[in-house]
Amino acid sequence: MRYLEAWSIAYAGDYENATPLLKSLARESKDATLRFRAEVTVANVLANGSRHEEAFVSLNRVLSMLPQVTDRGIRDQALQSAALLFNEAGQYEIGLTYANRLLAESADGKSVCIARHLALQALRRSGRTPSVEAFQAGVDACMKVGETLWASLVRLDAAHALVNSNRTNEAIDLLKTNYSDALNTNYTRVISEFDALLANAYWQIGDWIEARKFAQRAIDGSVRKEFTRPLVEGYRLLFLLARQRGDLRNALDFLEKYAAADKGHLNEAGTRALAFHVVEQQVQARKAEIAALSKRNQVLQLQQTVSKTAAQTRGLLILLLLSVLAFIAMWLYKTKRSQLHFMKLARRDGLTGIFNRAHFGDAAEAILAYCRKGEREACVVLIDLDHFKLVNDTHGHSAGDVVLKRTVQACQAHLRSIDIIGRLGGEEFGIVLPDCDPAAGRELAERFRLAIADLSNGESGVGFPVSASFGVTSSRWSGYNLKQLIIHADKALYVAKDHGRNRVEVFDGAGTETADPAGTQPGSFDRRRA
Ligand code: GH3
Ligand code: MG
Ligand code: MG
Repeated sequence: MRYLEAWSIAYAGDYENATPLLKSLARESKDATLRFRAEVTVANVLANGSRHEEAFVSLNRVLSMLPQVTDRGIRDQALQSAALLFNEAGQYEIGLTYANRLLAESADGKSVCIARHLALQALRRSGRTPSVEAFQAGVDACMKVGETLWASLVRLDAAHALVNSNRTNEAIDLLKTNYSDALNTNYTRVISEFDALLANAYWQIGDWIEARKFAQRAIDGSVRKEFTRPLVEGYRLLFLLARQRGDLRNALDFLEKYAAADKGHLNEAGTRALAFHVVEQQVQARKAEIAALSKRNQVLQLQQTVSKTAAQTRGLLILLLLSVLAFIAMWLYKTKRSQLHFMKLARRDGLTGIFNRAHFGDAAEAILAYCRKGEREACVVLIDLDHFKLVNDTHGHSAGDVVLKRTVQACQAHLRSIDIIGRLGGEEFGIVLPDCDPAAGRELAERFRLAIADLSNGESGVGFPVSASFGVTSSRWSGYNLKQLIIHADKALYVAKDHGRNRVEVFDGAGTETADPAGTQPGSFDRRRA
């Protein structure tokens, strides 16, 4: 009864209240199957509520219990959840393993249908294209047991695969023929996925009217407040369509919405992938520790035996033991090293390799405290690339990524080892320069500016204009509080943007404040420009 009660709370979407009830059941119930069932539900509920790291911890517990569980139904459910969560975290190899395991173990029609869907999804998303027959087998398995929803998901994967292999017209046929089935599922996510893919396919064959119609449907059908793929795709296509017909006002509006949805979507996917790695690392470390302990036990036992044997063999065995110990030490060292490597990754921005926002904050505060104590001046420089959205839209996201990396390299060439640089978000960077007066801060920022503007030129240049605007402030005007320094540097940056970009402005305690053109008051270290 307690399980059913918790389950119905979760079903109504109240994950916050359902989770503790399920967790306590998973710990306390006397019935092993029920404990397992509750843990599987915990993993699903946490994943639905976007608490990905906890979801993977819970999933690991589920997978460690799995060998003891014999109840077919709940085993199927656990394998499904595992395949689904790993696919969602981009771990397609593992997702595929669990989907195939479910396929091999289960005779239940619905489980076979879901397993086929998850396996095809893992294959397609990892860049392998399953055959038309494989997709057909997936659809057949689902339709055989009347599972229209899962059949629709398989068809979506099939249509994606067709679009990717330039068989756009076949994809449109497939989607249109089964569109009413998708509508009948009443499942908004599936319907918007159909709409978004149809919009994309029509855009590719040049049917602007249909493309626009389905793009709008994909947006209208998306779940509110969620940055789903169909929403991103819908806005992207509406932007392209508006630009194409010269309707620049609407194009700009859609571009903004597209950028916001895209960012939200990428964040969500990134969080899931990171959660997986964090948990995997913890599990590996624990396994290594347990294995090392049991090895040490074996060594102790061997030692006791050794003491009883003859003197000649003793030396030989001790040698053997020593090599076993050396092996263990080596092993522990390697695990530790990979753990440290991982911790380092968590402090770094994945694209540029410099400190991420959080770690930049910590490092900057430490060095500023040191400057305050030693009565040394310090400068803070904020950098924001100019019209970067345009770079992405004109030359593609990967060209944008190259510019971000080159920008960082260009600045690093002028930094001393004590300076600190970090990525504050998107195309914004912060630099703390200890032992630096305002004049030197301006001069250095000017050097960064020239180096960035120079990225367009030369043999290895990016081939299109790049520039950045700079806001500089000094501890002389802003003190040593990082938050305050950032607020002032940001004001200067505003002025630089307002005065035409590609320039350096220094906050001087008075002038720049009144020159703040927008009259806006940036809030804190967590500043956001409107
Ligand atoms: P402004 O000159 O006023 O700063 O204009 P802007 O276009 O640079 O400013 P805005 O803040 O509107 O746009 C920033 C863009 O940066 C939007 C987003 O698509 C892009 N962006 C953010 N992070 C990344 C990233 O990691 N890679 C790429 N390629 N683009 C990114
Ligand atoms: Mg910006
Ligand atoms: Mg910018």
